[in-house]
Order: sequence, then C-alpha cells, then structure tokens
Amino acid sequence: MTRIERYAVGVDLGGTKVEACLVDETRSVLARKRRPSEPDKGRERVVANILELVDETAGAARIEAVGMGTPGTYHPADDIMYGAPHTPLYEEPGLVGLLRSKLDVPVIVENDANCLALAEFFAQCHGTYGTVMAVILGTGMGSGLILDNRLYRGPHGNAGEIGHMTVDIDGRLCECGRRGCGEAYLSGPSLSRRYAELTGISIPPDRVFEEYKAGDRHARRVFEESFRIMGELFADCVNVLDLEAIVLGGGVSNIPLWYDHVPPVMLKSLFGTPGRKVPLLKAVLGDSAGVLGAAYLALREMGLLEF
Ligand SMILES: [Zn+2]
Repeated sequence: MTRIERYAVGVDLGGTKVEACLVDETRSVLARKRRPSEPDKGRERVVANILELVDETAGAARIEAVGMGTPGTYHPADDIMYGAPHTPLYEEPGLVGLLRSKLDVPVIVENDANCLALAEFFAQCHGTYGTVMAVILGTGMGSGLILDNRLYRGPHGNAGEIGHMTVDIDGRLCECGRRGCGEAYLSGPSLSRRYAELTGISIPPDRVFEEYKAGDRHARRVFEESFRIMGELFADCVNVLDLEAIVLGGGVSNIPLWYDHVPPVMLKSLFGTPGRKVPLLKAVLGDSAGVLGAAYLALREMGLLEF
C-alpha cells in the first residue's frame, strides 16, 4: 500500500526576516528557507515575501495548511497583532487578512513564543512531561505554556507573560511601563545594563559570563542575583501551574550557569508534594524552534497532531 504523503508549511514572521519550513505528516522537515520580511516597505511587500517564500519552500509538494508564528498576540476580529511594538506595521490591521485572501489553504496564526514552546515540547518533553513552560530569554522574556499536553493560550491568547511578573514592586523600570518585572532583570539587555551600572562597562551577556569565569566580582554579583531572581520567579510558576519541567531558550539560555544554579533556588521554594524534581532543560532546537512550532499548528489543523 502506498503511503499518502501530506504536507504543511510553517512560517516564522519576524521583524527583520521571515523563515519557512516544509514538513510532512511525520513531522520531518523537508525544506527550510528564509528571506528578509521588509516591514518598512509596507504590508503588501511583507505579504508578497511570505507568499513567495511559502511557494519556494513547498516546491512541488501540495500543502494543506500554513501555520504562522508572529510577534505579539494575533486578534482575529481586529486582524491585528497586539504587543509587537518593535514592528509597528504588525500592529496595524490587515496583514494576516491579506495573506489569508491570497492563500487557498487555512492559515493558523499563533504567538511566536507559543510556537517555540510547542516545538521544544515535542522535541524533549512529549511522553515524559505533559505540563511544561518554555521560557524565551533574549532581548525580552516570554513564555509558552503546555498544560496537560495542550497548548494553553488563554481566552485572548495572552497567557504566559512570565517576563512581566513582578519580582520587586519598587524595582527597576521595565520597558512595559511597570516596575520590577522579571524581564527588567533577566533579559539580555537587562543583564548588560546591571553589569554596566556596577562597572561603567557596557558588554553583552556572553561577555559578562566570560568576566564571571575570569573571577570578576561584579559579574559574579550580577549572576548570583540573577540565579535568585530566576529561581524564585520559576518557583512561583511551578507553584501556580504544577509544572513538571521548564525549558529555557533564547540567546541568554546559552549561558550554561543557569542549569546548575537556578534549580536549587527554585526547588527550595516549592509548595506541596515534597521531593519533587522540576528539571530546567536547555532548549535543543536553537533558532529553528519557532518555524517548526508554526508547522505543527498546520499539522494540528490537518488532524495529524494533537496538542
Ligand atoms: Zn514589564
């Protein structure tokens, strides 16, 4: 009997580039391509870029659905991605609507952090841990939630804003306007800023880590504070959601210190069942997670994947 092959394309729309991958019903990636998204050239150009990329990536495969990850939270009634302040065009109505009108297959849109969470969940948790939070720590701090093996987005798609949970109500001013958000301490720019406040030297987080290894006391202070902040913040999330595992992705996740130093802080602050282990796992898919998770949205639409 011949196998009926079924195909979908995942799209990861970013502020500077758009990426796509072709997958089959077994979740295997058959092609992957990227190009600039060019939001400065207007909506029509962005949509044309996406369409050409989808065509190029699909090649001869007859695709049945397209999943797309975007910054912010897509609101279908308004046709707007809310909360994408770095790319104003995406906060204007009409982009997804225009894309849908040009494609003759369903287009499923989801926040990019949720796409990453989905991909990492299937890559390293599915079958072992069903209740997982994936945190993206880079220029900002976001997360996606998988609760009881289902992607949890909340009634408005806003669930999982872990970066804007307050760790100090009189603390640092966050870009969102509140004070003391986790993101204001732990994002890449925040780590750099805290180091600069102590030393007057502005360097990226991986360089702060180099200084830490070289025994620099200021770098040590920044990281030791960060272990406590991250540990307590994650413990709050585990206490609220009864998480079984946390996945850490994004540029800041490449600093290896978190995996040894954060879990002891977190485990000490857990309520309930004693002796629990809640692993802090490093994301394994790198920057392909977003586009892969987007493709899974399409596979779910086709009835080939459950989450
Ligand atoms: Zn904030």
